[in-house]
Order: sequence, then C-alpha cells, then structure tokens
Amino acid sequence: MSSGPRGRRLEIRGTVQGVGMRPFVWRAARDCGVAGRVRNHAAGVTVEAFGTAASLDALEARLRAGGPPSARITSIGAEEIPAEDAAAFTIEESAGADERRVSIPPDLSTCPACLAEVLDPSDRRHGYAFTNCTGCGPRFTIVRDVPYDRATTTMAPFPMCPDCAREYRDPADRRFHAEPVACPACGPRLALRGADGAAMAGDPIAVAAAALAGGRIVAVKGIGGYHLACDATSPAAVALLRERKRREAKPLAVMVRDLDEAGRLAFLSDAERELLASPERPVVLVRRRDGSGLAPEVAPDGPIVGILLPYSPLHHLLLAAAGRPLVMTSGNLSEEPIAFRDDDALRRLAGIADLFLLHDREIEARADDSVARVVAGRPLVMRRARGFVPTPVLVRRPFPLPVLACGAHLKNVFCLAARGEATLGPHVGDLDDLETLRSFEASVARLERFLRIRPELLAHDLHPGYLSTRYARERSLRDGIPTVAVQHHHAHAAAAMAEHALEGPVLALTWDGTGLGSDGASWGGELLLARYDGFERLATFRPIPLAGGERAIREPWRLAQVALDQAFDGDPPAGAFPALVAVPEADREVVRRMVAVGVNAPVAHGAGRLFDVVGALALGRGVSRFEGQVAMALEAASDGGADGRYPFAIDVASTPWQLDWRPLVRAAAEDVLRGVPAGTVSMRFHRALAAAGAELVRMAAGRHGRLPVVATGGVFQNARLAGLLVEEMAGRFEVYIPGRVPPGDGGIALGQAVVASAIAAS
Ligand code: ZN
Ligand code: ZN
Ligand code: FE
Repeated sequence: MSSGPRGRRLEIRGTVQGVGMRPFVWRAARDCGVAGRVRNHAAGVTVEAFGTAASLDALEARLRAGGPPSARITSIGAEEIPAEDAAAFTIEESAGADERRVSIPPDLSTCPACLAEVLDPSDRRHGYAFTNCTGCGPRFTIVRDVPYDRATTTMAPFPMCPDCAREYRDPADRRFHAEPVACPACGPRLALRGADGAAMAGDPIAVAAAALAGGRIVAVKGIGGYHLACDATSPAAVALLRERKRREAKPLAVMVRDLDEAGRLAFLSDAERELLASPERPVVLVRRRDGSGLAPEVAPDGPIVGILLPYSPLHHLLLAAAGRPLVMTSGNLSEEPIAFRDDDALRRLAGIADLFLLHDREIEARADDSVARVVAGRPLVMRRARGFVPTPVLVRRPFPLPVLACGAHLKNVFCLAARGEATLGPHVGDLDDLETLRSFEASVARLERFLRIRPELLAHDLHPGYLSTRYARERSLRDGIPTVAVQHHHAHAAAAMAEHALEGPVLALTWDGTGLGSDGASWGGELLLARYDGFERLATFRPIPLAGGERAIREPWRLAQVALDQAFDGDPPAGAFPALVAVPEADREVVRRMVAVGVNAPVAHGAGRLFDVVGALALGRGVSRFEGQVAMALEAASDGGADGRYPFAIDVASTPWQLDWRPLVRAAAEDVLRGVPAGTVSMRFHRALAAAGAELVRMAAGRHGRLPVVATGGVFQNARLAGLLVEEMAGRFEVYIPGRVPPGDGGIALGQAVVASAIAAS
C-alpha cells in the first residue's frame, strides 16, 4: 500500500451549519496533519481532505465520533478523490445563492462560557446583553435569507470591530464564524422607552429592574418576540398584568435565575431539572410549592405553574438586577400572535406596558417560547417553538414528493417535508383571524424559501371550515398542486408513528377534544388500527350531545347535566352539585329540551368532554375560560394516594365498540354527593380511563395481534393519565407516547404529511 498523498471527500449531513462545524473540522484537520478545505454545501458541510491514508482515517474517525455540542450529525459519507498538493487547511466562504444552506439551526440558549464572560468584570463583554458564540445565540429568529451568513441576518447593520473581526476570523477561537458575534464596541445596544414610546435615559437594565421591583409592567424585547414582565411575587403586579392583557385564568410563565431558585418555587424531579436546563430552554410545567412566595395570581387555577430559565444574556442580567422571579408572558393581547417588530410592539403593547426595554437588533421571525413537561418520566413537548424550530424530524421512509401539511385549527403548526426530513414550522396560534392567517402564510413562505422546498403535494384536515384547509384548497387551485384531506385522529396517530419510526400497523389511542370524523361527527375518544395509508376505527367513546353546540364546551355544566341525565336514566339524584346549582333552573330545562328534541345538540365522542363532565361535578366548575381549563384543573387535583377506580362498560355490540361512561359518571356523582374529596374523585376517574384504554387495547390485540401501542392526542398531555396507562400496559405492550412532536394539534401537521405522502404514493 502506497503511503503517498491521498484525497478524501467527506459529506456531513444534519444540523451542521451555524453551530461551529467548520471550525471544529478545521481544528480536527490541524490536529491530524491534514490539508484541504471545508465549506458549507446545499445539504450540509463538505470536507475535502488531503494527506496520508492514516491521517485521513484519523480525521474521519474524529468527525464520526461527533461534532461540536450543538451539531446534530445524521450521516457522514466518504469517498476517495484525487490527491491535491494543498499546503494548508482552509475554510471557504459560502458561494452564494447556489449553495443555500438547508440546515439553519434553532436559537440556542446562552452557553456557560458566554455567561461567564458576561459576569466577569474584567471581560470586554462584561454586562453585554448580546454576547454569543458558535455554541449559542440567536439563529432562526435573525435569519433573513440563506445561506446563513452575517450578511443575511439582522446583524448585517453592525460592522464588526477589529477585536470581534479577529475572533470571527480565527479558526481556533470560540467565535470563529459565529454570525451574530458582537461586543459593546460594535454590536446591538439596549434602549428604554416610556409607555408613550418616548426614549428614556438611564442604564436600561437598572431602570427596568427598578420598575419591576416597583410593581410596574415592562415589555422586554427578547429572542423571538416581546415578553411582558412583572414581579412574579407581587399579587398586585400580576393582577394588573392580567387585567391589562385581558388574560383571566391561564397560568403565566415565570422566569427564574437558575435551577436552585426553580427548586425553591417548585417540586422538581431530575427529569424536570434536565428539561429546564436543556439548550431549548422551554417553559416547563411543574408543581409549585406552598409558601414558595409566588403570587397566587400567577396560576390561580391550581398548583401547576410554568417555569423557565434565562436563555439570553439580557435575561440573565435582568433577572440578576431584579433579584426576584419574573413573570415572562408573551407580549400580546389575549390570543393575538406575539409582537416582535418594534413599531408593532410599541403600538400594541402601549396600553399594557409601563416601560419598554428594547434593543436595535431586529427580530426577523417570531418564535414563542416552547412549552414542555415530563410525562411518564420523559420530556413531552406541548408547544414546539423557539429552540426546537427548525430542527427537522427525521423519518424512516423518505417523502416521495415535497409536501406542505397545513395543520389543524387550534395551536396551528405547519410542516414542510422533503426527502427524509420533516420540518415543523413555529407555533402560529389559533387560526381564527386574519392576522394569524397572515402570520401563517408569511411563515410558510419563509420556510419554503429557506429550505428551498416547493411543495408538490398539500395535506390538510378533513374539516372544510378550518382556515388551514381553505389555504390548502386556494393554493391548490393557484399552483396546481394536488391535495389530500387527512382525518384528524389518523394524523395524530401517524405523527406519533413517524416520530417513533414505527412502520405500522399500530393500535393508536387518540384522545383529544374534537376533530372531524370520516362520518361527519365530532370524534376524539378513538382507538384506531392505524397504518400510514389508512386506518380502521376500532373503538370510541359513547357520544354525548353538546347541548348548545360549541357553548357546551365553554360551559361544562351543560355536559354535566346531560351526562347525569343519561347516567341515571333521566332521573339523577336531586343533589347539590355546585356547578349545576349555580345555573337557573330554566336554563337547565332548555338544555334538557335541546337533547330530547335533538335540536342544536350535535354529538361528540371526545375524551375531553368526559373530563369536562367529571371536572364540573367534582370541582364545581360550570364554566371554562379557556380550552382545556377544567381538564387541567382535574388532573392537577388528582390525589395519587387515594384508592379506588370507577367502573366502566364496553359495548361490543356497536361498531365501532363504545366505551360506555355511564357507570363511571354514576359512581363519580355518588361520590361527590357523599362528600368524597375532589382529589379522590379525580384519581378514581383517571384510573378508570387508563384501565378503559388498556382494556380496549387488549380486546383489539385479541383480534389484530399484539401490535405496538401509540397513545396520543391532546388528552395525553395529562401526565397522570399517561403515567397510569403506561403502568396498566407494562410488560404486555410497547407503549409509545409523543416526545419532541406535540401530542396535541401542534403536532398534527407531521401526521398529515406522512399520511398524504403514503396515500399519494399508493
Ligand atoms: Zn456561547
Ligand atoms: Zn466588537
Ligand atoms: Fe386533536
């Protein structure tokens, strides 16, 4: 074997751009004594290396052992190429439009090295709110175009000072080709504005911190948009924020300095600590401690509170100066999209914030905070946004055509997929007004441009009224692209299958609030035998009439009334259920008549409705102020130490089988009338549902074999239920619960994409 010079090309794929991959390769090449070059390439990073066979092997082995911390290498291809007489190893600039990068990384939380500099009085970046490096900093939210270079980000207006330029050019430096690199001499600056938008003098962090300590509301420009901040320990400040933001009951996220402070406010498992400190830095739902000092108004509904750690230097500085946990909720009014442009924020938040803490680095795209919790011992993402977007989900079966899946109606997220990668877009919100629709369209256009994907197939929900469905149909007409309508729960099931790389068929428990079924009814308590290209509906919940239509969802007392009537054959015990007693007898009579006559009382199979019934009875909650409020409160109330389980029946004479909840409602109602504590009622209810799910799966397995089991749909964000179900199935079935793709409607677009592709290919 010749020991003369050899050449080798390595193609590195995955999330490898904007994460310090090229300097990493440069250092590895230097260490191995290899010459050549590295450059960003349309699909990743290309290395052309020249040296002895042994040195090339050493380089390849180094790269295969892993890249820099934030990189996600999915594959490395190697091929021999002719040797060249290269003298050194160099990093080549991106060549322009032809070499568009397809792997823009997500926004990365401040790394320990950068934080140490920010806190070090002798460092030139001491106290600097925009410190970042190749391992951390904004990415997706500052990119204007691809390739991802400083010139195509919102850092373009900030020419680097000589010191920053030296770091940027030095392959041995932590900031080598860190596109947003900056320092106090050359980078973005903080600024203050009053409630009227007028510029204010003073040290921005100090003034903002003092205002927060004084009970004021401060709008803080962050990474993916504006937050509204206030003192989380002050009942008056939090109440004021709620009043001005017109947000009555939903829990508000609280940012704390570090894990120690988080541990003082809430009970944290190891998994929860890990999730809080993960680079994505989501808001994590945890159980607060009594006497934590948090204002009760932060989460008036119960013990569950959302906590997050600082993820930008600005947050670290503000939290340190304020010296207290801060409410950090999205800068918007009620359910509008989060404000991210300065002029828009100053206008829309003018009536809410007393002070604006902002800066001159523009946010190019909005990204809400992600929300996650630990379910059955593992992280589960409920809202997939900043930190996760646009990291793709890798699927086992490549997509035959590029596909755009338009998602559902609530908590809309779309999915753009091609080859073996499915990229879920950022959380758009509830698609029920023009402003949100425009945000959806802009977000779709942006991702298509960045990923260079022109969809040749469109997927959407069966529901004709969803704005996402209408968008798909209009676009189909405009661009001549075929569409596939995907049933809501089939999409839920397929999303979980794709995330866990299951080939199917699977037995899929898909439980949620509502989704249009193939028969035109509202589904949501389904057991499906699911494949990618189709499904069979094996079982569902006994339907309940929604007296008053949608109103029944906002007013669970209506459901409770109907469920009691059905459970007790029209003669429910004349007891004092607080949720019903609060309602005038005449209104209850109207509900009964609607159901008896079958007018304005469409039936619903959703598991979520049963939570409404039991929540209304056990907690005395006749009215729900936001989607899922009663269900969340019922879960939070459940007392793990309580014993017992409510009975249920399975009606096998009907097709599909029906889970008959009447025995359950009877037993729960009798408990409530006997004065059994709500925590016990809730626990017995959760056990009954888990047992019913497991029993349905066992029965289905008797017919279809012991297939893998998927449990998904918004109801499986319920950690109590998911935990009990996993226990019920332990040792008998493999149970898969969503993790990085939300089980709720925020994950549905992935399922639409894989189902539409399978159908189009068949
Ligand atoms: Zn860093
Ligand atoms: Zn500088
Ligand atoms: Fe759903």
